[in-house]
Amino acid sequence: MNRQERLYLDWNASAPLLPAARAAMVEALALAGNPSSVHAEGRALRKLAEEARATIAGLMEVAPKQVIFTSGATEAAALALSPVLKSGTGEMRFSRLYVSAIEHPCVLAGGRFAPEAVETLPARADGLVDLTALEAALARHDAAEGAPMVALMAANNETGAIQPIEKAAAIVHACGGVLVVDAAQGFGRMDVRPAAMGADFVLLSAHKIGGPAGCGALVCGHAGLLPQPLLRGGGQENHNRAGTENVAAIAGFAAAAGAADIHAWVRVAGLRDLVEAGLDTICRAVGLPAPAVFARDVPRLANTSCFALPGVAAEMALIGLDLAGIAVSSGSACSSGKVKSSHVLKAMGVGDELARCALRMSLRTDSTESEARRFLAACEAIVARTAASRAA
Ligand code: PLP
Repeated sequence: MNRQERLYLDWNASAPLLPAARAAMVEALALAGNPSSVHAEGRALRKLAEEARATIAGLMEVAPKQVIFTSGATEAAALALSPVLKSGTGEMRFSRLYVSAIEHPCVLAGGRFAPEAVETLPARADGLVDLTALEAALARHDAAEGAPMVALMAANNETGAIQPIEKAAAIVHACGGVLVVDAAQGFGRMDVRPAAMGADFVLLSAHKIGGPAGCGALVCGHAGLLPQPLLRGGGQENHNRAGTENVAAIAGFAAAAGAADIHAWVRVAGLRDLVEAGLDTICRAVGLPAPAVFARDVPRLANTSCFALPGVAAEMALIGLDLAGIAVSSGSACSSGKVKSSHVLKAMGVGDELARCALRMSLRTDSTESEARRFLAACEAIVARTAASRAA
């Protein structure tokens, strides 16, 4: 049996824990106590949690109290997407939530809005949110009922397409609305500071950047606009999220965030392009149509390639690659363990037959050319088998 090392090319699903994050977590786990206790043990944990908060706040250029640690981007979405927010000493009310059809399920679910108050906006065939549709929806919005809330992602988890957030922010703010940006995939790979994007809230996830799963944050772009707590009880997280803090996870998150470098990804785009060009050559060599590369014509995260090898079902390709020691995803992340066809590709107008062939490969900052070539060789074998079975 081939005992080749595993090659993990599924960083958008979850990035392996970074050594710096592991070290920070081990340090925190060695401490006993509750960070809310006033004794020395409690204060030691509080210090770690507040240092972590200062790190995330510094990177996002907000005040520490504008960072609310959560159990991940999913909870941050549930916290922010709400018909009522705290605004100074009063409230700001929202009558409708507008989301794009390519959002992550945690945003599509609409948080605390009633399902009938959530409007899904179309996406374009190139993988970007449709700003014309956003403008039209907000022009129809009845401000007398409440302000509009809009939730869009910084970068799509499946295609890597980087969304026109600054333009969206201008449209939303011109209508008196609030913009929530899901930066789970963008954080660490592009500039997702609230002020730089024009976002009022930013959702972060630790495990996408080499921190632990089960940790993330809601970053509030303004000190005066805060969520109503979702979890009530104790006064943790400045009364924004009750429950004893998971200091080890928070410390690991901050360590991973501190180690992230958006410039480190530039080189990786070259490897992604090498893979996409190589797939083209492989398919043509056996007379198969050229692979479809989704969102190829728009700015994308440097590490992400979502493509379909026509006629090669994603499930078959995933198994073939797994047997060759390589981990990738189907076009849609399969949270249930089943390969479902992707709502993102559907929203882009990709037909079912092609969508069923979609794979997502996501690289890491130190991916190498030999790894890219190993991936291509494994794809070549799968494509050759498909071509042979067609010919038989
Ligand atoms: N948003 C996007 C774009 C994601 O890719 C993910 C993770 O798959 C999430 C949100 C959810 O993040 P978490 O796993 O931290 O809840």
